[in-house]
Amino acid sequence: MHALIIGGGIGGLTTALALHAAGIDCTVFEASAELRPLGVGINLQPHAVRELTELGLGERLAAAGVATREFVYANRLGQEIWAEPRGLEAGYRWPQYSIHRGRLQVLLWNAAVERLGAARLRPGHRLAGFGQDAAGVVTARFAGGATARGDVLIAADGIHSTLRAIFHPDEGPPKWNGALLWRATSRARPFRTGASMVQAGHRDRKFVCYPISVPGPDGLQEINWIAEQRYPADTPWPREDWNRPGRIETFLPLFADWRFDWLDVPALIGAAEAVYEFPMVDRDPLPGWTRGRVTLLGDAAHPMYPIGSNGASQAILDARWLALKLAMEPGIEAALAAYEATRRPATAAVVEANRGDGPDRVMDIVHERAPSGFAHLEDVVPRAELEATIMGYKRLAGMDPAALNARASWSPPRPA
Ligand SMILES: Cc1cc2nc3c(=O)[nH]c(=O)nc-3n(C[C@H](O)[C@H](O)[C@H](O)COP(=O)(O)OP(=O)(O)OC[C@H]3O[C@@H](n4cnc5c(N)ncnc54)[C@H](O)[C@@H]3O)c2cc1C
Repeated sequence: MHALIIGGGIGGLTTALALHAAGIDCTVFEASAELRPLGVGINLQPHAVRELTELGLGERLAAAGVATREFVYANRLGQEIWAEPRGLEAGYRWPQYSIHRGRLQVLLWNAAVERLGAARLRPGHRLAGFGQDAAGVVTARFAGGATARGDVLIAADGIHSTLRAIFHPDEGPPKWNGALLWRATSRARPFRTGASMVQAGHRDRKFVCYPISVPGPDGLQEINWIAEQRYPADTPWPREDWNRPGRIETFLPLFADWRFDWLDVPALIGAAEAVYEFPMVDRDPLPGWTRGRVTLLGDAAHPMYPIGSNGASQAILDARWLALKLAMEPGIEAALAAYEATRRPATAAVVEANRGDGPDRVMDIVHERAPSGFAHLEDVVPRAELEATIMGYKRLAGMDPAALNARASWSPPRPA
């Protein structure tokens, strides 16, 4: 079997590594002519770290990211709503990593080059169309006229997926929920544990930050942050692009008084190296991902709001589950059906939960009931209500600690 993978992002590269580990031959076709480590920080949840660890990448991840130790929700005054341990400290068998997205992509790309050989990674190939014949041969056609033939085609080509647009020509652009995100990294002194992820505010104005490097000799570490503001839904929306520069003057005033005794938000914003602006967009869950021997994966299949830190993690889960099914099922069509039967409803549930603010709903609850802050949190919301919201999301996203620790591996059995 030879698989054609479209897209050399986190989803496509993990698919290549997972297929290779399962003994399945594949080639990755990436539109960009060269790999540029784009983006800012991203969180890899323990369910995704498990999959990458089982692909033999645990040590590389540990060297490239920060093992997140704590997660905190606070209101806009910096009053703590919820604090919990994360990763190994929360009892998972695998860490959670806060990591630079571009560094993660380079790590996966390099691992794929080492294991599959450079010839199996084909930059400068933008998918333009495809065909499949009755004999089961799938042909990918690229801009510029090149073609490639294989047995199965996996489109991991992101939120603007060419293949998704061919399947669903009337779908139109991604959907914007009115929120704009400004994302950057700043070098700053460690806060809290030095490996804490913090979310403060509420649905309409939020600040998120977490370190993505250990402190250097100057005592400073690289801190990834996201400032978010919601605008009226009829505001004309700017097309999402991870590299569009944003201007600090646009949003710094919104956070000018967010100075907590444990975190100085305006100072962190003011220390930004470069700011990127991004509208919060997703797409509706699809009624189907697969036609014949062609299927969708990652953001191409289920782009979701970056709430609950699950976009890349869910792409990694897709990749591993698809490789397992291709290795174990009696035929390619049966494997794609089994892949989609599990992963499509699972990811649709996360897309829908994120539209309702996912686990961040706990900040909205506190803001609705105590917009000016609180003396005793228990008077505003019982701890059990917060816990039910947060744990409910973990179960839905596949990151309930006990269930994840207990479930069987998705590595196919090794051939005898
Ligand atoms: C630059 C960037 C930064 C991001 N930062 C964050 C973040 O901080 N937090 C977060 O939760 N999520 C972030 N995301 C989204 C997150 O990375 C995705 O949810 C996750 O990576 C899904 O990966 P993917 O491989 O499905 O899609 P993508 O990461 O979008 O990768 C798709 C790949 O396909 C390639 N491609 C596109 N069209 C074609 C074509 N026609 N032919 C061939 N190749 C094609 C693209 O060049 C790209 O390399 C970011 C995405 C990008 C692109």
